[in-house]
Amino acid sequence: MYYIDPHIHMVSRTTDDYETLAKMGCVAVSEPAFWAGYDRGSVAGFRDYFEQLTRFESQRAADYGILHTTWLCINAKEAENVTLSREVLAMLPEFLDRPGVLGIGEIGLNKNTRNEAIVFLEHLDLAMQTDEQLLIHTPHLEDKYQGTRMILQMLSDDRRIHRDRVLVDHVEEHTVRPVLEQGFWAGITLYPVSKCTPQRAVDIIELYGPERLLVNSAGDWGPSKPTAVPDFILEMRRRGHAEQAIRRVVYENPLEFFSQSRGFDFTPPVN
Ligand SMILES: [Zn+2]
Repeated sequence: MYYIDPHIHMVSRTTDDYETLAKMGCVAVSEPAFWAGYDRGSVAGFRDYFEQLTRFESQRAADYGILHTTWLCINAKEAENVTLSREVLAMLPEFLDRPGVLGIGEIGLNKNTRNEAIVFLEHLDLAMQTDEQLLIHTPHLEDKYQGTRMILQMLSDDRRIHRDRVLVDHVEEHTVRPVLEQGFWAGITLYPVSKCTPQRAVDIIELYGPERLLVNSAGDWGPSKPTAVPDFILEMRRRGHAEQAIRRVVYENPLEFFSQSRGFDFTPPVN
């Protein structure tokens, strides 16, 4: 089955991973800008990273027949440095019209601090001025419930935002409902050490239905599994779900969400 991984950090993965993904049916990925595992020292570090995301990585993926798309921002962890964040925000418009750039992300909150919220709101403002879609990271573990509430409040306070152009990612059982009820898209991350297992993700789909729900691997430089979406497909099949229902979640939903972005230029595989 063809599928799309809507959240995976391929700069941290090997070329062998691209080959494996291609063999498993992956036809497109989207890669949000994120924390590299260390704090970058200057805006020049972000410029180089955005060059890598928008030029080199797309070529590496194309060699395996995979469309690489990306989202740009300064992530929540480094947003604690407001001065650096504003330098990155000022540079972002230079990159937003490049091919394959789907919008601004993954912005969000990490420890739910005041500085993180300031930089989040400034990203929202830039996205509204430049007509960009948004991909939003919600915090980990014990900070998730409160952080998701804060994010939803900030989003609903801005009347310019079209909710069907916003993906709120890393939802779990205790946060998925308000995200969907308020009209946003919701992403479920399949992660071996925190976040959801494929079994829990299928439980969520069975409870809420497939509408506006995506699943992703969030594969990165830490313990993670780039082939987690095929694990989800297998679990759906084990429980007897129809191929059409599975395809909706892993292919048609990301296609529908991404197609709202002017940077998305995808040719579906011929059946
Ligand atoms: Zn991520």
